[in-house]
Amino acid sequence: MAKETYSRLMSGRGSGDPFDRHLFACAIAMVLSSPGESLTTGLGLSEESLAALVGRHFPQAPGLLSGLSLSGHGDEALTIEEPDLRALLLEHRTRGLIEEEWLAHIVARRSLGANHLWQDLGLTSRADLSGLMRRHFLGLAELNSRDMKWKKFFYRELCQREGVMICKSPNCEVCTDYAHCFGAEDGVALLVAKPTLSDSVPATIV
Ligand code: SF4
Repeated sequence: MAKETYSRLMSGRGSGDPFDRHLFACAIAMVLSSPGESLTTGLGLSEESLAALVGRHFPQAPGLLSGLSLSGHGDEALTIEEPDLRALLLEHRTRGLIEEEWLAHIVARRSLGANHLWQDLGLTSRADLSGLMRRHFLGLAELNSRDMKWKKFFYRELCQREGVMICKSPNCEVCTDYAHCFGAEDGVALLVAKPTLSDSVPATIV
């Protein structure tokens, strides 16, 4: 199970903060459980950044880097909005940590997924994502004081910056899209639900 990949990653002794290690282990296990997706593409990270992340947080898992050339461009944007979302996140980074740069790339890339963002990040629950935002992008977390769905909130922020009005009403309370923007982001944690591709995650990786 993908959950086992997560457990093996977390059983090591990386030097990073435990919550950050949890966030990265969730995202890595999530990508490894997806057929045909490379870690760099799935995380939106350059090969250099992935190597630095693994070296700092999962030094016991050098197999995660096998096959990387360290000269590729896994962080090349897949949509025109992706760099804008990265920039929005980094503009509100809390402490200037390199982890915030990595997370900005990962969150922007996983935001392209079809599920709730917390699910596509492989997290346990939406509370994990809110914790990530409060810890690393506090300014944005405070702007989302009404707890709008995170992807809706990100893209509304980007649209407002461009002067694009996407809201159907000047007042959320009377807007017909209220449930769309603020409804519960419930669901099953995909990391638990998804089987690992047994052949694509050899034990030598972790
Ligand atoms: S509920 Fe309506 S007004 Fe409020 S953010 Fe959503 S679209 Fe905009």
